Amino acid sequence: MKSLKENFQKAHIVIIGAGIIGKFNALELSELGFQVTIIDPTQLQNSSNAALGLLMGNMYQKRRGRSWDLRKQSIELWPQWITFLQKFNCELNIQKPLIQLTTNEEKFKKLEKFIYDNNDLNLQILERDSIFIKNINKAFQTKNIKGMISYEDGRIDALSLLKTLHKYLKHKKVNFLEEEIIKIKKSKSQWISITKNNEKIKSDMVILCNSLKAVDLIDSLSHDIKLKPVLGQAMEIDINYAEVDLLSLPKQFNINGKNIIPKSRNKLIIGSTDEYSTKPDENIFEKLTNFLDKKPNWLMKGKISKTWFGIRSRPVGEPSPIMKNLEDGLIICTGFYKNGILLAPACSKWVANEIKSYLS
Ligand SMILES: Cc1cc2nc3c(=O)[nH]c(=O)nc-3n(C[C@H](O)[C@H](O)[C@H](O)COP(=O)(O)OP(=O)(O)OC[C@H]3O[C@@H](n4cnc5c(N)ncnc54)[C@H](O)[C@@H]3O)c2cc1C
Repeated sequence: MKSLKENFQKAHIVIIGAGIIGKFNALELSELGFQVTIIDPTQLQNSSNAALGLLMGNMYQKRRGRSWDLRKQSIELWPQWITFLQKFNCELNIQKPLIQLTTNEEKFKKLEKFIYDNNDLNLQILERDSIFIKNINKAFQTKNIKGMISYEDGRIDALSLLKTLHKYLKHKKVNFLEEEIIKIKKSKSQWISITKNNEKIKSDMVILCNSLKAVDLIDSLSHDIKLKPVLGQAMEIDINYAEVDLLSLPKQFNINGKNIIPKSRNKLIIGSTDEYSTKPDENIFEKLTNFLDKKPNWLMKGKISKTWFGIRSRPVGEPSPIMKNLEDGLIICTGFYKNGILLAPACSKWVANEIKSYLS
């Protein structure tokens, strides 16, 4: 019989957690021919389902270091994956461009310097006389908004992406278990993942993509990994469209740190907050609409039609995300408190490369 190393694509890999990171890893590894099992008890209630799906890659201002490298790789991989996934959902796409705006003169100067230093034709300063700024100033009744446009950044609909990945995984007959893993242990050269119902799932490797709960499954004496919860909230607001034309606004933009997505003539989404909490804030309307000195009337009178939130995990004492080979056959890929959607392709590629080198 051939050994695992001789026949590595026959290896069985268990992925714990079916958020965007678990699902993307399952996609990458299934395409490489591995046998994959993905395990999650409540995949519809995770932070991935709450994400707004903005892909802020090129507009990231630090153009070196690990964080930029992951972004750069993801920016390159996304178009390939979109083309691939369109076989399962022809409507999946990245809506471009992405606009970042500020009313703070100092922050604007930084943006100007960033664009000047980088000389990237896909990034441009938006001055007051640009049509985007004129429309935004008119709608928000302001005079002092300025910013930049990134023609190659944009937004993917996170829910549509998750559903498409689910469809792909079903098509590939990837094994999906609706179970909670309460313990993992190594027995000889195999890993055993034990469910709450005491079912034991054997595999050659385990990838931990289960956010905050990943630390419960690893030996805290050997691995000093700490994660803390970060709350993200968003809401959909209905407005009186006689007062403003939401469709005159860009498809997605950010003003003073708040992400804004007009959905139709009378609906827009605003998100998200970052707080070290697990309890959604009741005063979400104030929190999310307080991004200008004075709110326009139509926004002040807006009615919340939907609110939602997600709890993400932020590494303590080390940068996000955590991608480590913990032991032979055990990888952790988690701690995406921000940008999990953006970074999923690059991080899955990293995991796949680790697995290939472990098994070869
Ligand atoms: C309001 C909001 C807006 C956001 N906007 C953006 C954005 O615009 N762009 C962007 O890139 N990112 C955005 N994010 C961040 C993004 O959502 C996260 O970075 C990403 O979803 C993290 O994905 P994940 O797979 O690591 O975690 P999760 O989606 O939380 O998935 C973890 C999964 O692990 C499962 N699990 C836990 N314990 C176990 C166990 N013991 N056994 C089995 N399964 C287990 C859980 O059930 C869960 O399904 C936003 C987040 C929020 C909340």
